[in-house]
Amino acid sequence: MNGSYRPPQKNRSQWLLSLLLVSGLALMGLFLLTSPDRANDQKYLTAQEVPISAITHGYANREFQKITVRDNRIFATRADNSVVQSYKEAGQTVSDLGLIDPKNPTIVQIENRETANLFYAILPDIGFLLIVGLVVFWLFRGIARSQNNALSFGKSRARVADAKQVKTRFADVAGADEAKEDLVEVVDFLKNPKKYTNIGAKIPKGVLLVGSPGTGKTLLARAVAGEAGVPFFSIAGSEFVEMFVGVGASRVRDLFTKAKRNAPCIIFIDEIDAVGRQRGGAGFGGGHDEREQTLNQILTEMDGFEQDTNIIVMAATNRPDVLDVALLRPGRFDRRIFIDKPDLNARLKILEVHARNKKVAKGVKLEDVSKQTVGLTGADLENLMNEAAIFAAKRKHAAITQEDLNDSVEKVTIGGERKSRKLSQHEKEITAYHEVGHAIVGHLCEHSDPLHKISIVSRGSALGVTWFLPQEDQYTTSKSKFIDEICGLLGGRAAEEIIFNEITTGASNDIERASAIARNMAMRYGMASPELGIVAYGERQGSAYAGTDPSLARNYSEDKARQIDDYVRATISEQYERAKGFLVKYKKKLEEVTQELLQEETMSVEQFMEIFEGKPVARIAKKKDEAKADNV
Ligand code: ADP
Ligand code: MG
Ligand code: ZN
Repeated sequence: MNGSYRPPQKNRSQWLLSLLLVSGLALMGLFLLTSPDRANDQKYLTAQEVPISAITHGYANREFQKITVRDNRIFATRADNSVVQSYKEAGQTVSDLGLIDPKNPTIVQIENRETANLFYAILPDIGFLLIVGLVVFWLFRGIARSQNNALSFGKSRARVADAKQVKTRFADVAGADEAKEDLVEVVDFLKNPKKYTNIGAKIPKGVLLVGSPGTGKTLLARAVAGEAGVPFFSIAGSEFVEMFVGVGASRVRDLFTKAKRNAPCIIFIDEIDAVGRQRGGAGFGGGHDEREQTLNQILTEMDGFEQDTNIIVMAATNRPDVLDVALLRPGRFDRRIFIDKPDLNARLKILEVHARNKKVAKGVKLEDVSKQTVGLTGADLENLMNEAAIFAAKRKHAAITQEDLNDSVEKVTIGGERKSRKLSQHEKEITAYHEVGHAIVGHLCEHSDPLHKISIVSRGSALGVTWFLPQEDQYTTSKSKFIDEICGLLGGRAAEEIIFNEITTGASNDIERASAIARNMAMRYGMASPELGIVAYGERQGSAYAGTDPSLARNYSEDKARQIDDYVRATISEQYERAKGFLVKYKKKLEEVTQELLQEETMSVEQFMEIFEGKPVARIAKKKDEAKADNV
């Protein structure tokens, strides 16, 4: 039903080619079978070799029935059909050898291959030529085909799904309720355009889906097509960009032409930021020109829709900030739908969606998984369910158990365990003290997320982890929380120093993260000193090229730069002292917990609390008073 399908063409040249090949082979075969040379070869070649005089004498004595001279070889066949052979010198003729006695009844036959057997002589050559010719032909055809491809570059590479093929429905998209509400309207535009046009309302042409990778933008776009029952043309922005200038624009043209033939339908441009970046300004090289042309073409096509063209262009991006303003103008992608990372409830629903086609044991609590996966997207959660199923299969469970799920959560969020990595006893001890340092300091800091688990089993590049779990999805962070986070991050290094009076490289990532938090507090959130004030320092710059993060341009004085550095340094050292203070005070606990961790390798928060509080504790109860005393 649409123009992009072409029936596979039965190729006549292919048929011809096969014919030629077969006849070439047949000729060679014919030669092998029928050549008299070959037919007698077996007998001739194995013939006993005798001196030439034996043949001339034999001739004189009439011992032979037939003598065959072939080039410089002479074969003599006796009456009993046995053959002997010999060699003559080049240039010696039959008469030189005395084989021309007219009274002798022996047949003397001279086989001159060039003349007598011309046909057979050239047969293999013809066959050979035919085959070489074929190979050359094939090669050329390959080249011609790729040139054809060069000519068809302008054809869009859009994948098209017929109305019936799109099986996705809104029910497959869990959470994202606001986005779905907005999109229900779009479905209605596609289904009942008259309802809107009769009143004189313009149907929006463009819908921009904005959200982090994996939040379900593509899924939602498909669901809209599925609900509306219209074909779905999808293409990624990067596919417009090729090495030749102008190809992108012509692909856009082709795509829209096809879409118009199939209206009502949806055109979905994934990763539109690949072509829709701000024109002019930063950017370099020919690729920029190409993007600009492609973008212009998209805009032209969207402007050119007739009033009643029932096509909705949906586009997805995770970088709305870099999009050209012209794309966002009314009449183009003026509808913007933001898709957030799922919250607690939405995560649960997404997990349920992806548990539908899997065997899950009774009593499994997906809520627990949802609680432990703050910040994960729909795609992450899908992956998580799949990993759980893989664990279950490996362990020969009949269905996915809570244990499989928990291990999968750990694997997806902090990386799989690497039991194979063997640490020396000393390294193991350092790691254990380091992690317990994080745990105790984090536990004592009032604003830190609650402790969840400590482990000294290597994962990814980390030797150990201390895992804190945010209780709630948080959208803002307070200054006290930042400070406590810095303190907790420094707890590892502090423990190393207290116990070993020696420091290792193991804390480099902690230090990096702590410094970044402090720097952001000073530069972005106005949380630092009065001298720095409530000012944002550094200006975000649009990135020059796809894929690079925008850098910060320095728009402040040397003086302020030094103040920022001072603030970062002062905050870090202050918090380091604070962390050391906690650990010195609880040094005995630090030792006890570490010994247990060295035994067990992993420790739940309950085990930690039992030792730390000296009694069994159900769940985290914070010692707020103690933490507060040292708070900033
Ligand atoms: P995006 O296009 O935003 O990068 P996708 O739509 O490609 O993300 O999502 C990838 C996969 O993640 C989907 O195929 C789907 O299986 C899963 N997924 C993402 N969000 C959801 C959701 N809200 N509900 C169910 N599955 C989801
Ligand atoms: Mg996508
Ligand atoms: Zn650490």
